[in-house]
Amino acid sequence: MDSVLHYDIVIVGGGAAGLRAAIAVAEADPQLRVALVSKVYPMRSHTVSAEGGAAAVARADDSLEAHAYDTVKGSDFLGDQPVIQYFVERAPEELVRLEHWGCPWSRNDDGTVATRAFGGMTTKRTWFATDKVGFHILHTLFQTSLRYERIERLDEHFVTKLLVQDGRCGGVAALDIRSGETRAVLGRAVILATGGGGRAWPFTTNGAIKTGDGMALAYRAGLALKDMEFVQYHPTGLPGTGILITEAARGEGGHLKNAEGERFLITRDYGVGQKAELGPRDMISRAITQEIAAGRGVSLPGKTGEFAHLDLRHLGAAKIDSRLPFVRELARTYIGVDPVHEPIPVRPVLHYMMGGVDTDIDGATQIAGLYAAGETACVSLNGANRLGSNSLTECLVFGARSGAHSAAHVREADAPPEAALVESARAAEAELEALRGRQGGGETVAQLRDAMTRAMEEGTGVYREQAGMRRAAAQIAELGGRFAQLRLQDGSRVFNTEITAALELRNLLDVAAAVTVAAAERRESRGAHACSDYPERNDGEYLHHSLVRLGDSGPVFDKKPVELGIWEPEERKY
Ligand SMILES: Cc1cc2nc3c(=O)[nH]c(=O)nc-3n(C[C@H](O)[C@H](O)[C@H](O)COP(=O)(O)OP(=O)(O)OC[C@H]3O[C@@H](n4cnc5c(N)ncnc54)[C@H](O)[C@@H]3O)c2cc1C
Repeated sequence: MDSVLHYDIVIVGGGAAGLRAAIAVAEADPQLRVALVSKVYPMRSHTVSAEGGAAAVARADDSLEAHAYDTVKGSDFLGDQPVIQYFVERAPEELVRLEHWGCPWSRNDDGTVATRAFGGMTTKRTWFATDKVGFHILHTLFQTSLRYERIERLDEHFVTKLLVQDGRCGGVAALDIRSGETRAVLGRAVILATGGGGRAWPFTTNGAIKTGDGMALAYRAGLALKDMEFVQYHPTGLPGTGILITEAARGEGGHLKNAEGERFLITRDYGVGQKAELGPRDMISRAITQEIAAGRGVSLPGKTGEFAHLDLRHLGAAKIDSRLPFVRELARTYIGVDPVHEPIPVRPVLHYMMGGVDTDIDGATQIAGLYAAGETACVSLNGANRLGSNSLTECLVFGARSGAHSAAHVREADAPPEAALVESARAAEAELEALRGRQGGGETVAQLRDAMTRAMEEGTGVYREQAGMRRAAAQIAELGGRFAQLRLQDGSRVFNTEITAALELRNLLDVAAAVTVAAAERRESRGAHACSDYPERNDGEYLHHSLVRLGDSGPVFDKKPVELGIWEPEERKY
């Protein structure tokens, strides 16, 4: 191992959660040396593609209690209420701070911050910067991080392993993608902020880099992944590509219609009541799926499957251009539809993972010195269903908290013995070198990845059934075995994308294993987990978080209580 780098804190991920954590460390103690490790240049993190907005109470007619209750109800009572309480209290100050750092929030005519309606929220509390919110948030955080000399970036470094010794985390092993060299990046605390793993499914809004790496790193280090069965289908993805049409399109007044031109959320009973298009995502995705199953879907020449229509025509060109310019651009470019004149064909698309690395409210895990924040973590804010626009704010609130707590931790903690950490990094390097260009007799990355995404789509769609989930769990376990025979052809060192794709596939297979195992264990319907064989929620037996750990012979299932608060579970009606 030629390269051993020393820091105080290592942050893996340059998206909203990782950058916010880095700034929090620098604010807590500007002397701490921070490594910000990212497999892509930070501005290419998936956060950049968020369109709709970030939630926080801003208006006089709103309250923290209302935001908390909406989130608890949206989570189908599986969110931990102390976490939700802390989140809603901190949310407004985080968004104001972002403005002070330069985020150009859209304004009302009187100069106050503009807010828009979002699904499952009782009032307009989603802050936005037209419909390019993620770009502006990420840019603001990135430029702010550049002010701190002691935040050092390791761009295009792919973390392959957590270095853990005697129950303490002391850094990571990372592949420098540019040179092909493996480095030991040491620090007395590590924060995982690697985002979600939506690439385990074939039809997804998620960028190609969302491969669940942090979840898999934690899982292989022996930690539990929590609530993995809950994956969110966003109601409105574009046919073919899965590109997202933001919920802001409905927040601004768009309507969903079937092939008969009927606004089915109003005319039929899908449980969303008067909220109609502004019901929560799990319910609207199920409604579209049922409309299609009932033969009222829209067909498109040259596209497989059927769709619903998202109609924005009544909003008019002026509103579409001022509030939803990106929606117009995406629909025109990727499906050849101008929403000013025609409805946009859409269907539910895999979008977000509610589950992730099990953490407490500080972002701390069961390994001393290891933290997680953002989509890769499960701090239990979102429970069984996330409300749109809570996730960007989650990255800020809990990125900041895990940064502050890791800074406090390194003041007290000593590092595990360096020799042992370097030895562990060397083992990661040897494993990687054995994979590079190894011919192998089996399938290619693409072949295995296709088999995995098919299994996940069939077993863990908008609606699931027990037999299908068990079959998917068995298929994923079997694909894990086939990975051992993987055929790789490129033996080169510089920008070897075949090897990073193989590492990502291995991570996705671990994430997929946890999802399918947790799904098959939940014999009820709650939030995004709609189980056809068990259509009712069953609080008596299933009001608990799921945990999946890696045992000696595969995934091991366990559970943990939900932290309730002032709101007792009740039927979820809108
Ligand atoms: C299209 C789209 C639109 C969305 N719109 C909204 C919205 O309007 N409002 C909302 O609240 N939420 C929205 N979401 C969800 C939200 O954007 C994400 O949950 C959030 O941005 C995740 O941020 P993050 O910091 O956790 O991770 P990401 O932004 O995904 O960043 C992950 C980082 O980790 C790094 N990384 C990953 N693996 C490794 C590795 N092995 N080694 C080194 N580095 C690694 C990556 O390089 C990257 O820098 C949207 C999501 C999508 C996909």
